[in-house]
Amino acid sequence: MKIYLVGGAVRDSLLNLSGSDRDWVVVGASIEEMLALGYKPVGKDFPVFLHPKTGEEYALARTERKSGKGYKGFTVYAAPDVTLEEDLQRRDLTINAMAMDDQQQLVDPWGGQRDLALKHLRHVSPAFGEDPLRVLRVARFAARFAHLGFVVAPDTHQLMCNMVEEGELEHLIAERVWREMDTALGETDARVFIEVLRACGALHVLLPELDRLFGVPQPPKWHPEIDTGLHTLMVLDQACRLSNDKTVRFAALMHDLGKGTTPTAELPRHIGHETRGIKLIDKVCRRLRVPTAYAELASLASQFHTHCHQALVLRPDTVLKLFESLDAFRRAERFEKFLLVCEADARGRLGLEDEPYPQADYLRQAFKSVADLNVPDLLREHPVPAGPQAGEAIRELLHTKRLQVLRAFVEQQRSAPQ
Ligand code: ATP
Ligand code: MG
Repeated sequence: MKIYLVGGAVRDSLLNLSGSDRDWVVVGASIEEMLALGYKPVGKDFPVFLHPKTGEEYALARTERKSGKGYKGFTVYAAPDVTLEEDLQRRDLTINAMAMDDQQQLVDPWGGQRDLALKHLRHVSPAFGEDPLRVLRVARFAARFAHLGFVVAPDTHQLMCNMVEEGELEHLIAERVWREMDTALGETDARVFIEVLRACGALHVLLPELDRLFGVPQPPKWHPEIDTGLHTLMVLDQACRLSNDKTVRFAALMHDLGKGTTPTAELPRHIGHETRGIKLIDKVCRRLRVPTAYAELASLASQFHTHCHQALVLRPDTVLKLFESLDAFRRAERFEKFLLVCEADARGRLGLEDEPYPQADYLRQAFKSVADLNVPDLLREHPVPAGPQAGEAIRELLHTKRLQVLRAFVEQQRSAPQ
């Protein structure tokens, strides 16, 4: 039996990147031999084992052939006679299809090094077309390595277009799609993930609500970039710049979905897009089984981003209503994320990328002034009689006091020298 390091770890070491987890392939061994050596079996669909000490993944060399529609429609063959070259051939991209033995000898039958030098993401073989998830993986790697100058190879792009055209992407299950999207949102150049999906038509299949924004105009006075799709990508860029938080980035991507359903006669204005967006976001999140934390922030960002932009001129009672609608007193962390999404929105406009966004700090300060109020102190000053109405009375007292504090805050801000 012979063991090779494969996949991302080999690729990343040739790119001088560290931190990738290590995957191994085992050639010339049977399941029984692996078990006898103490490896722990974990694969449900094919033989993968965990090393008894390091916990790293060891997979028996295998071939895969498509035998039906969808993810499970593969016939896997893993046996001692499967060669390393055959195993590497079933992999997605040439840069992911290299192996290294324990003498640091590189095995590269499919041109991985050539494509590393060319900075091309290229499919290994036409079998790439057998798993539509690979379209998302390519988009994800394009985002991951964009800063190094990697692009999708032209023939791979064509193949991805054909796969979309043939309806292959409709067979993907929600969990697999979301997992790729979620990982892609963790990349600093997440925008590239969306661009690659759009270029091959996959965005139209996976996120039609987002795809539809391209070509929709906005008023040039507020949006020099005009195109709503372009604006959305610029907002995503800014969100990536402001925060590593994937819920912030997702909300940035979703915040203007409502602009996709504006009646043509009203364009380029988008009256009520904030509320129209909520339904669309809900639809996306149900379809892709997006986790609640992502869905909630996206929905709040859609509904209230315009309020946030107007913060400096809002009346104190409207500011309080905004805090209450955002449930900011109980969800202070989410409120902070909301502010980041709004800042990304304001800066995700052509020529305004580096403008300050005083609204965020204004709301932060306003919030702090009321969040500091505490109920025990208030009750000491204004005792509330015990009884069935006590809860309601305390809520009212708190509301009144908060409003008082916000009035003073707003007045002080407006009279302060600019
Ligand atoms: P990462 O740094 O994200 O872990 P990776 O390249 O190691 O990148 P993994 O998802 O860990 O990616 O997969 C390990 C290897 O398995 C890949 O390099 C690739 O060769 C192969 N692979 C994984 N998923 C697929 C797939 N859907 N189709 C073909 N090959 C795949
Ligand atoms: Mg890996």
